[in-house]
Amino acid sequence: MTLSQPQAVLLDRDGVINRDSPDFIKTPDEWVALPGSLEAIARLTKAGFLIGIATNQSGVGRGLFSIDTLWDIHQKMLAEIYAAGGFVTRIFFCLHTPEDNCDCRKPKPGLLYQAAELFACGFDNMTVIGDSERDLEAAIAIGARPVLVRTGNGRATEHLPAAKDIGIYDDLGAAVDALVAEREDNT
Ligand SMILES: [Mg+2]
Ligand SMILES: [Zn+2]
Repeated sequence: MTLSQPQAVLLDRDGVINRDSPDFIKTPDEWVALPGSLEAIARLTKAGFLIGIATNQSGVGRGLFSIDTLWDIHQKMLAEIYAAGGFVTRIFFCLHTPEDNCDCRKPKPGLLYQAAELFACGFDNMTVIGDSERDLEAAIAIGARPVLVRTGNGRATEHLPAAKDIGIYDDLGAAVDALVAEREDNT
């Protein structure tokens, strides 16, 4: 690894940064950060990683909430991340339902392609942190590095084939600590 190559980290949103809900996160009030996640993003920022968020938000496609509300939810999230000292370059989102058969809904890698283009990084310099099988599958599909956290769906996901032989951590804070330590070892 050389420092001239940017190191990008793409975070899933629900179940990684904030509490997930089977009923979708439909309002800013329902968006609640998981313990330690905001501070973890701040540590990643301080360590020099490029950070994006890649999230399936089919609740919009299903008509459960509007894109304006999604924007309000993301304004709240970014405000809390920035207040903690973190920086997120962009939120990549898919608004489609599974029936739309788009190229961006994870496990399809479309959002990861968008991120690699923006960050101008190779997929071998991209780490994808998620709590669900589809996050891992999207990363594996393009040769990015999948990392699983045990928050959200993570405890159910860690026994699936996609989670075999990958880094698994209790939460985003622990995953970030490992990434930062690894980067320090390599510089
Ligand atoms: Mg998730
Ligand atoms: Zn899509």
